[in-house]
Amino acid sequence: MNTYKKGVVFTLIAACALTALVFLGRLDREAAPPAPTAEQAVEQTLQEPPAEPEIPTGATEEPKAPEPEQREPLMASSHFAMEEYRCDCAGCCDGWPCAMRPELLEKIEALRCYFGRPVIITSGVRCEARNEEVGGVSWSFHTRGCAADLYCPGIGVGDLAQTAKELGMNVLPYYSSGYIHVEIIP
Ligand SMILES: [Zn+2]
Ligand SMILES: [Zn+2]
Repeated sequence: MNTYKKGVVFTLIAACALTALVFLGRLDREAAPPAPTAEQAVEQTLQEPPAEPEIPTGATEEPKAPEPEQREPLMASSHFAMEEYRCDCAGCCDGWPCAMRPELLEKIEALRCYFGRPVIITSGVRCEARNEEVGGVSWSFHTRGCAADLYCPGIGVGDLAQTAKELGMNVLPYYSSGYIHVEIIP
């Protein structure tokens, strides 16, 4: 082999080696995760949520009570839950033989607001069975969602009846029992 041929072979080998090195190097780089560029790093910093303000120890704020599992009660009006008007029989009906009339619910709410005191509903809607049981007349407006019996602790039956009348309800006061029956025309 003369010097010229040796030189050519050497050059070829060197070229092959270089190619191999470059190729392997590229593989290496592809396998490794790309380093974040400066721009990406800035973006990541921006996306991080702002730190929670630290609550000083001894803060007066009460820890929040756990969310109640029950849903909010269905309201008949601002101060009355619909449940208060439910038929209270022992299972003859599902509690709602018919719906309470909204006009009556609003008038009872107005009565409660007039006195600014709790008003207790002792009877709202009644199924036929419950109506018979309590001795209600067969045409009772209770069975149509148009009547309720109620009292207001601290307010006399007479005063309560008078105001209920003024608010547009038909009233039957039961002085000896201490409550009034209110109703609207169906
Ligand atoms: Zn019932
Ligand atoms: Zn009644």
